[in-house]
Amino acid sequence: MNSQQVKEWAKSFGADLVGIASDKYFEHLPPENNPRSIYPEYKSVIVIGRRILRGSLRGVEEGTNFGSTYGSFGFTWLEDNFLSKSTYDLTCRLEENNLEAVPLFGYQDLDMSYGMPVADGKPAPNVIVDANYAAHAAGLAEYSFCDLMLTEEFGTRQRFAVILTDAELEPDTPKSRSLCTECAACVSGCPLNAINPEKLIQKGAPGFEMSVAEVKMDICMNCDNGAACGRGRGNHRDRLAAACARTCLVQLEKSGKLKNNFSNEFRKRTPWARDESGKAINDYSEKAFANDGRFK
Ligand code: SF4
Ligand code: SF4
Repeated sequence: MNSQQVKEWAKSFGADLVGIASDKYFEHLPPENNPRSIYPEYKSVIVIGRRILRGSLRGVEEGTNFGSTYGSFGFTWLEDNFLSKSTYDLTCRLEENNLEAVPLFGYQDLDMSYGMPVADGKPAPNVIVDANYAAHAAGLAEYSFCDLMLTEEFGTRQRFAVILTDAELEPDTPKSRSLCTECAACVSGCPLNAINPEKLIQKGAPGFEMSVAEVKMDICMNCDNGAACGRGRGNHRDRLAAACARTCLVQLEKSGKLKNNFSNEFRKRTPWARDESGKAINDYSEKAFANDGRFK
C-alpha cells in the first residue's frame, strides 16, 4: 500500500483531486477540530475533491437559475451524493485491504452546533475536521485572499471530503500561494463590502501560512448574490457561486493559470448584483468593473 495506489483508487472512484496530508499538520489543532479526537490511531489524512461543474454556475452568473443548476449539481448533490460516493467507495477499498479508514463529510467549523461531552476530558460531539484546511495540508489547494480554496485544476470550483486512515502514506507538501495574485477584484466584486482587505489573518498549515482578508460572515449570511445555505451544514454560508467567487473565477481564467480551460470566457455579460434587501444594484458593474470585465 502506497500513496500512488490510493490516488489511483480515488481517481477510479470519480475523484478529480486527491492528496495526502501528514498528521504533523494537525497535531496543534484544538480537540474540537483535531482528527485524533475522532480516530486516535490515524496516521494519514486522505483528501479527495470533485469539481464544481463550470456549467452549474451558468444560471447563477446569468441571475436566472440558482437551484436546479448550482444548488443541486454544484452544491448539495455534489457534496451529498457524488463526492460522498467517491469517499465511500475509497473507504470500502481501504477496508478491503485491512486498513481502518474513517470517512468525514467536508464540513468547515463555522457555527456548527455541539452536543455534550460523553466524558470528562473529551471534546463535545461533533468534532469537525476542517476540510479546507485538510486540502491545504494535503497539497491540493491554496487559500485565496478572500478565503476561498483555489486549485490549479479548477480555481474556485471544487469541494473536498476527508478520510482518516491508519495507513502510513507518503504525504504531499502543502501549497504556497501561486494562483491568487492578490488583485483584490473579489473585494470590489462583493456588492455588500463584506471583504475587509485592511484586516488580514494567517491561514494554512504551519510553515505554509498565507494572508487572508477578513470576510464578514454576518454580512454573507444575508447575501443574495449567489451565496447559499445547505441543510445540515450549520450556519455555514456557501460562497462558491457568490459574486466574490465568480469574480475570482473570471480573474483566474484570464490569468491562464488553470488547467481546466474552456473555449469561451465564463463572463459573457456585465454581472448583476443585489443589495442587502435583495434589490438590484443597477450600477454595480460600472462601479466594480471596467467594460472588458476586469477589475478597476
Ligand atoms: S479575485 Fe484576485 S485577490 Fe481575490 S481571491 Fe481571486 S485572485 Fe485572489
Ligand atoms: S458571499 Fe456575498 S457578501 Fe459574502 S463576500 Fe461573497 S459576494 Fe460578498
